[in-house]
Amino acid sequence: MEGSPDLPPVNGGPSGAVRTGGSASSGTGSVRLEGVTKTFGDFTAVSDMDLEIADGEFFTMLGPSGCGKTTTLRMIAGFEQPTAGKVLLDGVDVAGQPAYKRPTNTVFQSYALFPHMTLEDNVGFGLKRKKVPKDEIKRRVAEELERVGLSREAKRKPAQLSGGQQQRVALARALVNLPKVLLLDEPLGALDLKLRKGLQVQLKKIQRDVGITFVYVTHDQEEALTMSDRIAVMNNGKIEQCDDPETVYERPATTFVAGFIGVSNLMPAVATSGSEVRIADGPTISTPGAARFSPNERCFAVVRPEKLTVSTDEAAPSDQPSVDGVVESSLYLGTSTQMTVRVAGDVRMTVLVPNASEAARQSLPGGGARVRLSWLPEHMHLVADSGDDRAEEAAPEQTNPTEGAR
Ligand code: ATP
Repeated sequence: MEGSPDLPPVNGGPSGAVRTGGSASSGTGSVRLEGVTKTFGDFTAVSDMDLEIADGEFFTMLGPSGCGKTTTLRMIAGFEQPTAGKVLLDGVDVAGQPAYKRPTNTVFQSYALFPHMTLEDNVGFGLKRKKVPKDEIKRRVAEELERVGLSREAKRKPAQLSGGQQQRVALARALVNLPKVLLLDEPLGALDLKLRKGLQVQLKKIQRDVGITFVYVTHDQEEALTMSDRIAVMNNGKIEQCDDPETVYERPATTFVAGFIGVSNLMPAVATSGSEVRIADGPTISTPGAARFSPNERCFAVVRPEKLTVSTDEAAPSDQPSVDGVVESSLYLGTSTQMTVRVAGDVRMTVLVPNASEAARQSLPGGGARVRLSWLPEHMHLVADSGDDRAEEAAPEQTNPTEGAR
């Protein structure tokens, strides 16, 4: 495990916030996909995708294994050519342009550093091949090693570094080329959880510092929520929703997105009019979201686990929408207790109750207890059925129980 490196401040610092020197980083780093499709034989990996990524954006493609994230990234990089559609970088159609001619660089999950070279030689390797003057190589390599907090380790070889440090060398090696767009394919995937979380914060800071466009691929929803300006949630080669992290979490567009990002808590419902929805075997609730559905159209009501209140029937707030159910299990997670409550229609709802005090935790209803789940109307969101129930299976594990079930 590595220590916390001294990274330069977000807006400047010794290495400077503005990327000067070299030519590649001048101009903008926007990415545009127009109707991009990629097929392998008769299999469609990416299907008619339209996407616009702004200059300087931290953009994440998130989705389960096989949904087409890497294929999309590889088409932007130039490692794959689209079967149909266009890729535009800075407004220029890059069809047929090989990867090395594009203003992009890619950081992969495997660092692929040269083991016999020092860090500075690894980082400067590409510049040396491009015959950049020695003084400039020295300056730019020093600048990037400082940016990733590895100046003191410059003379070490990769084997003398931790996994996280090696990944930061790989990052410096990409940034030293002054790309307009940095493509990152699960770069933290091989690292343990604690290290990954530390590097997420550092990566975001580095991105703000260098100000270039990052296109990031991950299947880890928490990682995507932590770092991104916008997230494209992908499923079966298509984007199901593209929004900022808060919108994707608070107002998922489909059942797939609701299930992949967080715990879905989907209650079957029917829109009864332009302004109301009826939860199956439950209350009719007035909500502006109902306007998106035709009368009698089926949909699902989503309430996130931390927004639900669990109480015994008598103690439940009478002025809030609620459903009745039976506690199936209760799991101590350290900072909170996770309860599973079965409500009408055999729907299992997850409730997270903060462990504010030991007494409050001890008084929570246990397995078999009849309870009422209530929520504020503004915490309920209606989603369309995406007809895909893979989301929950595909979603990474959400919880990390620190003690067994009570
Ligand atoms: P993961 O997170 O597992 O890397 P992903 O979302 O990045 O998944 P892709 O690598 O883009 O998924 O692959 C999308 C689909 O395309 C997968 O079903 C994969 O098997 C298929 N695929 C990718 N590359 C090829 C190839 N060269 N030939 C045939 N099929 C391919």
